[in-house]
Amino acid sequence: MMRTVFVNGEYLPEDEAKISIFDRGFLMADAVYEVTSVLDGKLIDFDGHAVRLERSLRELDMAAPCSKDELLEIHRKLVEENGIVEGLVYLQVTRGSDGDRDFAFPDADTKPGIVLFTQNKPNLADSPASKKGAKIISIDDIRWGRRDIKTVQLLYPSMGKMMAKKAGCDDAWMVEDGYVTEGTSNNAYFIKNGTIVTRPLSTDILHGITRKAVLRLAEEAQMQIEERLFTIDEAKEADEAFTTSASAFVMPVVEIDGVQLGDGTPGPIAKRLREIYLDESRKTAI
Ligand code: PLP
Repeated sequence: MMRTVFVNGEYLPEDEAKISIFDRGFLMADAVYEVTSVLDGKLIDFDGHAVRLERSLRELDMAAPCSKDELLEIHRKLVEENGIVEGLVYLQVTRGSDGDRDFAFPDADTKPGIVLFTQNKPNLADSPASKKGAKIISIDDIRWGRRDIKTVQLLYPSMGKMMAKKAGCDDAWMVEDGYVTEGTSNNAYFIKNGTIVTRPLSTDILHGITRKAVLRLAEEAQMQIEERLFTIDEAKEADEAFTTSASAFVMPVVEIDGVQLGDGTPGPIAKRLREIYLDESRKTAI
């Protein structure tokens, strides 16, 4: 089906949407993005994504293309026009184009670029992958040092996914200085003796919107949480593990570097957290 997309102020059929070859998102990966999930035709944690977008823009000295209310309106209009009941809205803001290529940023009055499109994913909540659980490999983390900014520099994470695929697995967790940072497109956790362990927030990882919600819900459910550095060997000896992201919610992990966790099926705490997260998200969706 031909989607309606939003490009620099216009709603257009996807095959008529165009951006300049001089756009800095295209030339320099000088762009940031957000992915917001849709359940029951409504947006999950729109506010969290809008706040993180503002922060990413601020950290890069990039102008906002429109107000938060306008962003919400565009998200909603695309969800409606494209008949999305379950799926995702992708949003990208770039530093725009001043009609040439230069390492220096263009003048501050250069208009930022903005692109939004939807992705229809009918089985997002009831995904077969979440029932099986993910097999992961560990790889070196060789990304730049500001992973807290959600930029479109996704080549290494894409390569990580391909390394996992080649090894017959689903995803990769990245390791730096002996400690796990995060997954290629998600935050990483393990559970040992009932305690959920995850890396604390810093510039080393993306401050996941799903991470924040899941940790709050786990705390409300009286679960023990430790935010600390952890090694891949600790995770391999865990009872359970999981990842969180806006596009996969809570995803159980059943194998790390060929080592099976528990009985090799999604663990009870990860499964429970997925249920709680989905229930709460549906209730607060807008
Ligand atoms: N970490 C990385 C590197 C990511 O790319 C993502 C999502 O794209 C996440 C974590 C999870 O963030 P969120 O829960 O906001 O989707």
